[in-house]
Amino acid sequence: MLDVKTIRQDFPILSREVNGKPLVYLDNGASAQKPQVVIDAVTRGYAEEYANVHRGLHYLSNLATDKYEAVRDVIATFLGAKDPEEIVYTTGTTMGINLVSYGWGVPNLQAGDEIILSVMEHHANIVPWHFLRERHGIVIKWVDVDATGALDPQKVIDAIGPKTKLIAITQMSNVLGTVVDVKTICSAAREQGVRVLVDGSQSAVHMPVNVEELGCDFFAITGHKLYGPSASGAIWIRKERMAEMQPFMGGGDMIREVSKDEITWNDPPMKFEAGTPGIVQQIGLGVALDYMMQIGMDKIAAHEASLRDYAVQKLNGLNWLQVQGQTPDKGAIFSFTMDGAGHAHDISTILDKKGVAVRAGHHCAGPLMEHLGVSATCRASFAMYNTTEEVDKLIEALELAHDLFA
Ligand code: PLP
Repeated sequence: MLDVKTIRQDFPILSREVNGKPLVYLDNGASAQKPQVVIDAVTRGYAEEYANVHRGLHYLSNLATDKYEAVRDVIATFLGAKDPEEIVYTTGTTMGINLVSYGWGVPNLQAGDEIILSVMEHHANIVPWHFLRERHGIVIKWVDVDATGALDPQKVIDAIGPKTKLIAITQMSNVLGTVVDVKTICSAAREQGVRVLVDGSQSAVHMPVNVEELGCDFFAITGHKLYGPSASGAIWIRKERMAEMQPFMGGGDMIREVSKDEITWNDPPMKFEAGTPGIVQQIGLGVALDYMMQIGMDKIAAHEASLRDYAVQKLNGLNWLQVQGQTPDKGAIFSFTMDGAGHAHDISTILDKKGVAVRAGHHCAGPLMEHLGVSATCRASFAMYNTTEEVDKLIEALELAHDLFA
């Protein structure tokens, strides 16, 4: 079992007050708080170990380079990847997916080719494909979720046609918490020569991931949700796909030689990494992933499943609250609207007064909002350091909000 009390002590911000009340941080779907080990690594990175990477021959540059490069192994282990050279550093999922759209999509897709998306995708996994639609005539095909928010993998497989080249899909919805059976989708896609990009922004935080077992081609993660620094991240790209890709951004590390008339690229993964990177951010991400692995992803998943079950039972007892997405094995992410409340923002403002931090809005998921027939929801999203007592505080704050609106 997870020792949540001890884990909470690792996160200094969790002991602060907000609006005179102990902080109940339930906005983890947007960004997670940082443990002291990550804060220390970032401080040390700047205070004692900072220099630019790769280019220097002096002590500090070599030290920073070694620490920065070692994170590839940590990420590979975290994702179950065979080879750290399949890890491309990014500033987060948005950059990872844009890299695939431009780096793989542009040279490998032609007008009329199809990309399948689920209606639950985050804008970061929609807009880069819209670029291809607008600029290259690629067709986007949408697959709906059912009334419970579940996505039947067979519906995705049935959408595959002769022109389908890519399925780009989330493994866990940032709005509904729905977990998608990506493995079944990947196995059918592979048989038909269709590539699969998995948006692991949410799933990798809450459940063990193994990209080799999943059988996908691309798997994107974002560091700030993984208890790491903002603007850190990575995308795992299968070697065969890397070989099919053109560089994304130009400059710095991605270059081998530049002359007036010619350029040659560095080898992957550096071929896809341009300019001075987020050196300290990436080092901090390595520490964050080590921290998670030491705790154990199975234990984190089990704790969050018990939080989810407790929250489901409590939230379902509020008959004036409409919780979107009711699949039983979902992540501990709850989006809801409330009878009488004008806008989700009003609910979140009242919760904030009670120290409860949630998010309100469209959650960068326009097509899902359209599908659900709502313009915005309030979202409470849990992490490994949350407790059942905090679920109770959420419920109390919701009851207060309801009393005010009724
Ligand atoms: N995909 C999902 C499912 C997300 O939840 C998010 C962040 O909210 C993203 C992509 C984008 O991540 P980032 O803004 O860190 O690039």
